[in-house]
Amino acid sequence: MPLPLIGLTTYNDKNQYGFPVAALMHKYILAVSEAGGTPVLIPSGLTEDARSTLLECLDGILFTGGGDIATETFGGEPHPRVAAVDPARDSMELALFKAAASDGKPFLGICRGFQVVNVALGGTLYTDIADQRPGAIKHDYNPGTQRQVLAHEVRVDSDTRLAEITGEPVLKVNSLHHQGAKELAAALKSVACAPDGLVEAVVLPGLPFGLAVQWHPEWLTDQPAMRKLFFAFVAACRERKT
Ligand code: MN
Repeated sequence: MPLPLIGLTTYNDKNQYGFPVAALMHKYILAVSEAGGTPVLIPSGLTEDARSTLLECLDGILFTGGGDIATETFGGEPHPRVAAVDPARDSMELALFKAAASDGKPFLGICRGFQVVNVALGGTLYTDIADQRPGAIKHDYNPGTQRQVLAHEVRVDSDTRLAEITGEPVLKVNSLHHQGAKELAAALKSVACAPDGLVEAVVLPGLPFGLAVQWHPEWLTDQPAMRKLFFAFVAACRERKT
């Protein structure tokens, strides 16, 4: 039986010779594969026709982590710690998300992907949590070295899709973000928060699977709750396929 095709967005980088590459950390690919999906990497810079052709073939999309979204896209406050902005990736992902959501395609957003979902639907971001959100706990654990550190808990609201999937009221998560949801888009529903009240997971009601999380579950697949997240996503993509 053909496996569902799961698109994964990529970032733009340079290889050891200085040539541009489209790249993605392998953990995302593994997590999707282990959950029974076929990973398909999506480069940025696609024409509108190429993007819609690809979207038609895909059964679901994973919006992956990465650098900060350009502050101008959501009217945010400029901040010296805004880093690794990539306008080509921003415009591709924002357009892809809008098209996918209006098609009712299952999606999973992770970290930057969570922020893309919020911004695409009209929400805003703290451009630096530590500076702009009084009373915030530490969310910006060094992404280069601390990807599996359980940085903080998130409390999952009962009677939500996330609670149903994970079966756990409290999750222990990593935290590799210095930005976060400030005003949540009206269409989104918060389903989990950090101890300081920062929204860490949202659903887009009305879709077979529309979920985004601020942490990185692909680095925590030793936890059953995180594996269940990927399995539920891929299952929703498979159902849509049949
Ligand atoms: Mn966090």
